[in-house]
Amino acid sequence: MFYFDYNATAPVMREAREAWLEATEKIHGNPSSPHAFGLAANKALVEAREKLAHHLGCHPADIIWTSGATEANNMAIHHFAQTLDAKSEVWISAIEHPCVHDSSRHYFGKRTKVIPVTHDGVVDMEWFATEMADTRPGVVSVMCANNETGVIQPWRELLAICQAYEVPFFTDAVQWLGKMPAKDLGACDFITGAAHKFGGPRGVGFLKAPHKSKINSLIFGGKQERGQRAGTENLPIIVAMLAALDAREKQLANNDHDTRAVWREKFEKLLLRQVPGTTVVGLGAPRLWNTVSALMPEGGQQRWVTRLDKAGFAVSTGSACTTGKEEPSHVLSAMGYKAGQVTQVLRFSSGWETTAADWEALEKGIVKVYGEVHGGK
Ligand code: PLP
Repeated sequence: MFYFDYNATAPVMREAREAWLEATEKIHGNPSSPHAFGLAANKALVEAREKLAHHLGCHPADIIWTSGATEANNMAIHHFAQTLDAKSEVWISAIEHPCVHDSSRHYFGKRTKVIPVTHDGVVDMEWFATEMADTRPGVVSVMCANNETGVIQPWRELLAICQAYEVPFFTDAVQWLGKMPAKDLGACDFITGAAHKFGGPRGVGFLKAPHKSKINSLIFGGKQERGQRAGTENLPIIVAMLAALDAREKQLANNDHDTRAVWREKFEKLLLRQVPGTTVVGLGAPRLWNTVSALMPEGGQQRWVTRLDKAGFAVSTGSACTTGKEEPSHVLSAMGYKAGQVTQVLRFSSGWETTAADWEALEKGIVKVYGEVHGGK
């Protein structure tokens, strides 16, 4: 079976498994306890915090551990709602993950302004620069790279504009971390990430927030994380997350991702040639090396997913599927695709473990399924 759904979750890498096991076996204490066991646990927690701060380029005290990105994104938006004045708006891109736009709608209601994207799925910089010159939001939230299309957002440029107007900039870096270098991200005021997207365990992530602005906890009952997130820290998975990120940053420093981008491009070219009528979404924009989002020419997306699954390829439709029921992609709709097209999209997302041969196999698998669908079998 070939796995092409890394943007949903990635397998836990060896380094992370080993770090988890070692921390589980050797570090028994609660990091808040005053005895030697507690001190050992706290030391490991401090080291993990320092490592993450080093990768991002921020202060260790800026890091708050969470159960994942959904919690971290909710925590950030909740914090803005608690601290910004009652008239402030939050500006979020039209392609943010539901945990950003649903929480913005929840806390800010009509004070949520949506930043449009181009047909290639990139935030409309002209719109942004013009609007910013006119009004100042309380905060701007734009992800680093989109989970459905892999389209990279101009977060550095957005950050520079926000800095010029002294508006805090928040970025969801979930799909960026471990795939692209973390360096420079620390300049963003707020950042969120989740381990399971880059080879760490599920159920752990973080919020990076300026340590001077204390975050209001979403949950109560403990003084952990400097009173910003109650509950005993899950040390083994935090340590495992950092082991995974350390390993990914090494691969990135070797430029191993450049080779993988070539494999993905080759796949796209073959797909467009072999399956007439296919459209690659965001083709004209810079995209993550691992993701291909394509509108397939025939048969509904569920039919494609099921047939490919039977043929040995795990792919996805890319949009929210928490209830097992696919919802039409708000990302593709924001890019201007029509309702009929949105339900034709498939997402192929690879990972560090994917080989050139895997991409070739997928291409052959798709051609085979296309033959069946086209031939009405
Ligand atoms: N943000 C983005 C861009 C994502 O892709 C995801 C998960 O798909 C999330 C946030 C939520 O992450 P989690 O489910 O780990 O909380």
